[in-house]
Amino acid sequence: MYLPDTIVAPATAPGLGAVAIVRLSGPRAFEILDAIFRPMHSAEFTPRMMRLGDVVDPATGARIDRALAVVMPHPASLTGEDVAEIQCHGGPYVVRRIIALALDAGARVAEPGEFTRRAFLNGRMDLAEAEAVADIVAARSDSALANALSQLSGALSQRVDELRAQVIAIRAHLEVEIDFSDEDIRLPSRREVAAEIERLIADVTVLHDSFARGLLMRDGVRATILGKPNAGKSSLLNLLLGADRAIVTAIAGTTRDVIEDSVQLGPYALVLNDTAGVRESTDDVERIGIERTLRSARDADLLIAMFDSSRPLEPSDLDVIRITNDRPGLAILNKRDLPAAIASADLRDQGLRIPILPFSAINLDEAATLRAELIKAIDALIADPSPVISRERLGEGSAAAATIPTNDQIAISRERHRDALAMALEALKNARNAVLSLMPPEIVAVDIMAAASALGSITGEVSGEDVLDAIFRDFCIGK
Ligand code: GDP
Repeated sequence: MYLPDTIVAPATAPGLGAVAIVRLSGPRAFEILDAIFRPMHSAEFTPRMMRLGDVVDPATGARIDRALAVVMPHPASLTGEDVAEIQCHGGPYVVRRIIALALDAGARVAEPGEFTRRAFLNGRMDLAEAEAVADIVAARSDSALANALSQLSGALSQRVDELRAQVIAIRAHLEVEIDFSDEDIRLPSRREVAAEIERLIADVTVLHDSFARGLLMRDGVRATILGKPNAGKSSLLNLLLGADRAIVTAIAGTTRDVIEDSVQLGPYALVLNDTAGVRESTDDVERIGIERTLRSARDADLLIAMFDSSRPLEPSDLDVIRITNDRPGLAILNKRDLPAAIASADLRDQGLRIPILPFSAINLDEAATLRAELIKAIDALIADPSPVISRERLGEGSAAAATIPTNDQIAISRERHRDALAMALEALKNARNAVLSLMPPEIVAVDIMAAASALGSITGEVSGEDVLDAIFRDFCIGK
């Protein structure tokens, strides 16, 4: 499918930079480039070879910029159309002028994500791969990047296609039953078909439930530091943030007025939840009531529970132990440089189950150990996040009960994929029940086809512009 109009947009971020890229795609891309760009030596462009030249205003002959240009003829281009790019000097005014020249020469401004959308429409990538492009742009950690990159390379699409092929194979069995039910050939028994559907349900469930893991990789692991006043929470926070000053980012919460700090830990981003609250607590003990702690802990993926080893256990320590029950986390038995009033065994006696790290938050040398222990805790969480992720993050009605095998590397990270898999699961369960209650094969086939089309929607068999609009709306202009 080739679209009639030619689009133009800056492919680089707005603002000052050494270089900016203006990208054109569509049937008139080369004609428009010819109109506004004069190569220095010969008139001919060789595909995918940079040419130095001048961007000129064809109306006046005025030079706008000295720039490089490249042409990438269809179909072997990003969008599957003729693509031309101008690498100009990275000033917003220069970029605006070049875009204006392209518009005068017949292009129109691209909508957000339109280049990628065209790549999808022209079969250069499927929908899951197109979405991975946006995820790569948004990645904040190595794990987010790796997961998006594997999706861009087709790992998710391949898995979904395999599952869909299995669904369609069941449909073929049913066809045999429909077409040859009067004849004397061996048909798969109801029990065999039900067992086949059951296996598929298990496989689709694994992929569906990988959303929890995918979210942790995409958005980072949210951690909350718990502990009674003076346990050393602020000191721990400063140690964590201080050890990583260069890549610490302050993120203003979008929905709540909370400042979060994000720390890079190995391949992961650790998002320290509600750290403003931790800092406050040192000034005003009363302000961090148990309720606030509970709220913050509930939203966290990982709990960091702090205990003061130089003081006997108090009721608030027991509260902390209770909150960490059945949650992933790391206990820090702090102030080990001081004479001990309690030991790890005392925490165990009170029912603490998470790993315990004897620690001293005032000792900078211990930061590396802390980071290593936290990475271990996140590894464990990513391997099996099922009991953890709060309902809020997973969305309503999600069934995150099944265990997630650690060897399954594919993780979905988009609600759209999760919802499509949930629909496929529901249809498959209906099909299984229909088979078991001896419904006619035609009825079962309807559910089976619903499952196939739900799976197909992940890679691109979506009906309707509105779905595509919703998907590509999140992209930036020029992508
Ligand atoms: P928070 O109320 O839990 O945030 O605790 P702070 O981090 O403010 O620490 C309370 C006090 O304990 C401060 O005076 C810290 O310097 C001190 N402190 C924190 N960690 C340690 C430690 O490992 N050893 C010693 N000796 N003092 C510590």
